[in-house]
Amino acid sequence: MTQVTDHGGGVWSLRVPIPDNPLGFTLVHLLDTDRGPVLIDTGWDDPESWDALSEGLTACGTSVGEVTGVLITHHHPDHHGLSAKVREASGAWIAMHEADAAVVRRTRENPPSRWYAFMAAKLAAAGAPEDHVAPLIAARDEGRPRKLPGLDPALPDRTITPGDLLDLPGRRLRAIWTPGHTPGHVCLHLEEDHPAGLAGNGRLFSGDHLLPGITPHIGLYEDPDDATVTDPLGDYLDSLERVGRLAPAEVLPAHQHTFTDAPARVRELLDHHEERLTGLLTLLATPLTPWQLAERMEWNRPWAQIPFGSRTIAVSEAEAHLRRLVKLGRAEAVAGSDPVTYVAV
Ligand SMILES: [Zn+2]
Ligand SMILES: [Zn+2]
Repeated sequence: MTQVTDHGGGVWSLRVPIPDNPLGFTLVHLLDTDRGPVLIDTGWDDPESWDALSEGLTACGTSVGEVTGVLITHHHPDHHGLSAKVREASGAWIAMHEADAAVVRRTRENPPSRWYAFMAAKLAAAGAPEDHVAPLIAARDEGRPRKLPGLDPALPDRTITPGDLLDLPGRRLRAIWTPGHTPGHVCLHLEEDHPAGLAGNGRLFSGDHLLPGITPHIGLYEDPDDATVTDPLGDYLDSLERVGRLAPAEVLPAHQHTFTDAPARVRELLDHHEERLTGLLTLLATPLTPWQLAERMEWNRPWAQIPFGSRTIAVSEAEAHLRRLVKLGRAEAVAGSDPVTYVAV
């Protein structure tokens, strides 16, 4: 049986499993409206996850076929994976922030060879050793298809406009743009009194932005079609302050469990990132490429045990930290270095 929690006031959460993933499950939220049930995120595209979603909706007294709309916090496959199937079964609309909708369009349109070429060039520029870049070049030359989940994500039909109240009769749900984890991540703020009378400003569906016990991955917004020098970590830290100021009575995240005192969790995360950035400056006493920095950073296991794909993600995270340090004037690129190295200033 799917684990379903009734949070009161016409809000439920459904545990939808993510197969073979330490996160375990996505908390899909169900929101009752005067026009029928609406989902916040849908879960991983897998038969077991689909069954859990369907059974969970039945346990809430509704069904997939009755869903009228899907609000997506961000485009990742553990959130947006089942959206196409939900739309197919119900005719529901799918809404997403434009910046993530753009990622979805490009994911669908870009041929695999373009992606491999982009990643190979990017990793070489970050100082990745040849044995890490070679498989990507081989994949590009062989025209190998990409075998990853979430490569055929559903195109949304509606745009979530930041700051707007969403068109949900009988409810006050406002979109808060919280870029960082993805460029178009949104939190959804239910501006209604807490059903159990908890003090604070309504309830916040926080997606992956604000989680009780883990920090979301913040890497570069990898995009072959966009050369803008973005600062995702800076975006994320600003977005954290924004949701801290909202001071919701309760946070309903997309993983782990609900929690209160969002401002305290925000402070904890801001302190954690400040400590991490300061730690990196110590490492950058000598010039390092992003790859060398990633090798020296602290991860959940030693670098030698981190597999290929996760190393690519780790380097992206190292680069996001370097961007932030450069933007803050605390590090700079060493002139003439190739691949480029960075040093603390
Ligand atoms: Zn995510
Ligand atoms: Zn997630």
